[in-house]
Amino acid sequence: MQSGKTVWTQDRLERLFHRYDRLYFGGRLSNFSVLICDLREKNAVGRCERSKHKIYIDVDEHRKDREIRSTLLHEMCHAASTHGHGHEFFAQIENLLSRKAPITISSPEAGAVAKVYENIVPPRFPLARRAMLKAEAKRIRELNKKFPPGAVPIEDVGDLTRQFEEDAAELEKWKYALVGVAGPFGLVDDSGRPLTKWAKQMFPKWKRAYRRGRTRALDAHKLARLFDLKKELRAVVERLAKAQGRAGTVMLPPNVADKVDQSSNEPGFERWKTVSKAVKWHERLIEQIKACLRKEKP
Ligand SMILES: [Zn+2]
Repeated sequence: MQSGKTVWTQDRLERLFHRYDRLYFGGRLSNFSVLICDLREKNAVGRCERSKHKIYIDVDEHRKDREIRSTLLHEMCHAASTHGHGHEFFAQIENLLSRKAPITISSPEAGAVAKVYENIVPPRFPLARRAMLKAEAKRIRELNKKFPPGAVPIEDVGDLTRQFEEDAAELEKWKYALVGVAGPFGLVDDSGRPLTKWAKQMFPKWKRAYRRGRTRALDAHKLARLFDLKKELRAVVERLAKAQGRAGTVMLPPNVADKVDQSSNEPGFERWKTVSKAVKWHERLIEQIKACLRKEKP
């Protein structure tokens, strides 16, 4: 693979253009011409004039051959779609990436929009999105180098740790919590990878907060489940008594009858040490009574 820059003539650029047109655009761009020109005044390295069917490439402003190829493909995507970097444009980029065309995506593809870049690429173009994400992560890495954590105050973030403990506790996985809480601030990408050094440093603290909240939430769920089971136990004992035709009293094997008493004498779960154990114990007991109930039925 070439890493440097070789000589680019008008002829070479044209040949490359026609090859790419055949390879990636089905020859749809054959009515365009491609020209080497000086674009410094336009502050650009490539340019596409769709109305005139012309693509301009400033080869002198590129440091590497592969950058020239990438710029050419970028302009060809404009030729095949529209001037801006909207959905139609990214559909073209997605097509090129899926065919492994030598195009690299950089944050400037998002235009001068000062927001989290990856959200600019619609989700239905996953390759373009991922490429943009990578480019954005790189941009942020460079920003981090320039401004180490601590040098830039993180505004608007609020007390994220508290959010992890309280708001995210209902989310089943740490990753969901991460994306749900830190995602809206652009601190992690949509797969939960940190986009800033600060966010990465905060991960252990956030994770501990989430675990604390999550354990509490799960305990609360289990306790609710335990109370439901106790209710179900009473109901199933009543059904058995009815089936046995003895309103009010019920015939149970002695060990099962003892357990029913234990359950009604213990309002919480302390007797079973943990809520989980109490839940399992009640589930088994209900099954035993249901088995008695099945025997009663003719
Ligand atoms: Zn462009």
